[in-house]
Amino acid sequence: MTYVERVLDDIKQRNPNEKEFIQAATEILTTLEPVINAHPEYEQAALLERFVEPERAVLFRVPWVDDNGKVHINKGYRVQFNSAIGPYKGGLRFHPSVNLSVIKFLGLEQILKNSLTGLPIGGGKGGSDFDPKGKSDREIMAFCQSFMTELYRHIGADTDVPAGDIGVGAREVGYLFGQYKRLRNEHVGVLTGRGLSYGGSLIRKEATGYGLVYMTQEAMRLRGDSFQDKITVVSGSGNVAIYACEKAQQLGAKVVAMYDSNGYIYDPNGIRLDVIKQLKEVERGRIKDYATRVIGAEYHEGCKGIWTIPCDVALPCATQNEIDSESAAVLVANGVQYVAEGANMPSTLEAIATFQQAKNVVFLPAKAANAGGVATSALEMSQSSGRLYWSSEEVDAKLKTIMINIYHNMDNAAKKYGFEGNYVMGANIAGFEKLAEAMMAQGIV
Ligand code: NDP
Repeated sequence: MTYVERVLDDIKQRNPNEKEFIQAATEILTTLEPVINAHPEYEQAALLERFVEPERAVLFRVPWVDDNGKVHINKGYRVQFNSAIGPYKGGLRFHPSVNLSVIKFLGLEQILKNSLTGLPIGGGKGGSDFDPKGKSDREIMAFCQSFMTELYRHIGADTDVPAGDIGVGAREVGYLFGQYKRLRNEHVGVLTGRGLSYGGSLIRKEATGYGLVYMTQEAMRLRGDSFQDKITVVSGSGNVAIYACEKAQQLGAKVVAMYDSNGYIYDPNGIRLDVIKQLKEVERGRIKDYATRVIGAEYHEGCKGIWTIPCDVALPCATQNEIDSESAAVLVANGVQYVAEGANMPSTLEAIATFQQAKNVVFLPAKAANAGGVATSALEMSQSSGRLYWSSEEVDAKLKTIMINIYHNMDNAAKKYGFEGNYVMGANIAGFEKLAEAMMAQGIV
């Protein structure tokens, strides 16, 4: 058994119920063999064992009262995974599917993603099994205040800086920040994704989606290709999906389908993003209503069917494991050329293998392709500490440069170890090399 195999075995033995975490660890560790083989000193320092074990995981009770006076208790989590490169950084997810395994998988991914950005940020992730759907504004505020009443003692501008994720957008970040400030009596950059009137950064809202498209655009450019007239499918209709759609459309793509967790819309004339924004950002409604507002659009119950729509570009931007091996095979058979992951771990391990075996598919993995959000969060942190505000153009230009640099770093890392074009390996290796250097330099901690 190799060192990597032994560590993976150990992870499975010690975390038998954490299937998402095991999936993420398997995807990452199996690609690190060439680096591990080149550095026998890593095994002696138990580097991989330390990499896969969070420095700290906080689990807490979140009591809150609904509009009818009923008391609810949710579970709260913050996993402070790795601080070798900088303060813990990673979003908060509010969704009923959240459990320790999901937060650990996201946290592990986040370590390498943050390393890849080249910015001084460590990895963490948190959230709750609270379901924001159908809750009143007051209930959301009550929940966020209760959540922060425990979380505040564990975070700080130089310790751990959370942000948004599924179910946590500008509104929730605002309520969380307000409560932190009230408890600590300090107005600091402890959360990113803040509103522009209280320390947020321009382009943060757009950053993950725009960054995803900038990286795909670079992959296209190097192949003499572009987004112009590309039939594109974007899954999800949340923060990442909306701004991926916006930038792809600006670059000439024809986005024909999107979904929410109930079903998908197909609009052969090209998605009207103004209608999606009104539905999702303003009304907080369901995507089904798009088909009643836009002539020629169809609504289909269920999500999986979206991947049967023939497309040149697929941008999964909703959640983990939304593309399984069957959907991947259909996408490939229908001639997809680029698959770029906006969500975290949207493709199963089998789906990734299908994309990589297909000759003409460029597959850009999440930890590189969706790193624009956290990179811009780090830019927000810089602006907060310097009490500065950069213009949209400035932030957008920095974001684009970062995404292009990440693309080339992962491309070069894949080539260095003889796996040209395998960006899963490239991203994992490039992120891990920097992390390993920082961890080795800091001793056994
Ligand atoms: P949002 O909450 O804004 O949107 C999530 C979207 O995905 C919604 O349309 C939601 O539908 C849909 N969705 C969620 N769960 C499911 C499911 N089980 N099946 C089908 N659809 C689902 O989240 P974000 O856009 O912020 O995040 C999307 C993904 O991108 C996540 O994987 C997140 O980790 C990742 N990401 C986000 C970043 C950010 O900056 N926000 C940064 C990097 C990665 P519905 O409304 O019906 O629930």
